[in-house]
Amino acid sequence: MRIADLKQRLRTAGAGPSHEHRVLRLWSHAQPRDSGRRLPGTFFPAPLLAELPAIEAELAALARVHSAHPAADGSERLLVQLQDGQMVESVLLPRGGLCVSSQVGCAVGCRFCMTGRDGLLRQVGSAEIVAQVALARLRRPVRKVVFMGMGEPAHNLDNVLEAIDLLGTVGNIGHKNLVFSTVGDPRAFERLHRQSVKPALALSLHSSDAARRRHLLPRAPDLSPEQLVEECERYAQSTGHPVQYQWTLLKGVNDGPDEIEGLVRLLAGRKGILNLIPFNTVDGAGFSRPDWAQCEALARTLKARGILTKLRDSAGQDVDGGCGQLRARAENLRRG
Ligand code: SF4
Repeated sequence: MRIADLKQRLRTAGAGPSHEHRVLRLWSHAQPRDSGRRLPGTFFPAPLLAELPAIEAELAALARVHSAHPAADGSERLLVQLQDGQMVESVLLPRGGLCVSSQVGCAVGCRFCMTGRDGLLRQVGSAEIVAQVALARLRRPVRKVVFMGMGEPAHNLDNVLEAIDLLGTVGNIGHKNLVFSTVGDPRAFERLHRQSVKPALALSLHSSDAARRRHLLPRAPDLSPEQLVEECERYAQSTGHPVQYQWTLLKGVNDGPDEIEGLVRLLAGRKGILNLIPFNTVDGAGFSRPDWAQCEALARTLKARGILTKLRDSAGQDVDGGCGQLRARAENLRRG
């Protein structure tokens, strides 16, 4: 279900703008069973009242928690089952963050990522994206939503931007707390500039060397790191939101002195933050995780060279739940 379809259905049942707002707000903040019908003083037209139970049932069926995996760092990975049985992962992060999935599988095929191994299976609808937020809000408050789960949001632009619009308005999430992540797709850069709700931007950079980046992200658009950073800087300057540059640290691949020089050349003086994320071990990926002390030394060097750098451990490391790992494990169990 798309959010546009839901709105149309509400209007057909007689909903005016305030009724529509009320239903969407209650849905994105909690379960549909808390419908506006029970709120004192809320008047809903009779045809809408008659239709609401069916709509509520459909919204509730969009997504359910298949399994929950709390980790010692305060994060909690959710394996979410969609109506057709497909699974995606959402991650509740410490301090009110939520990472959502925008696709089942992914076509980019990054060599260090489990999700990309099976290719793209299907798009996640805008209503299914918001349903992930609603499910998470049943467990704890959500004040920030990052589109860094399974999938490349730029490959599902209409659904992702529709969900962002709703979350940034009736969903009551600050625009800079909505984070659109991309491997660097020109269609996304172009559309984001035209959005009324302008999210912050995260770029999966991973290497400052064009050939190495092309190898690591084989089906990402063929823009050079310089072109990508230029596009991101333009967006950061027009929105005022700093860009998050994502860098999965792979031992012996992109943690050397050449990359330090490359990062300084690319990012010095830019409105952005570099997030170094040591690789979350994936069986058979052919990469390994650098030692923590080595990661700290790298972060210190970059900071000393004037790059705003944060070293982050990927949430849920201790539950064996890197991007796509929970889903892969569940699928293996299902197939026996
Ligand atoms: Fe897709 Fe992101 Fe995995 Fe790359 S890292 S394959 S873009 S889900």
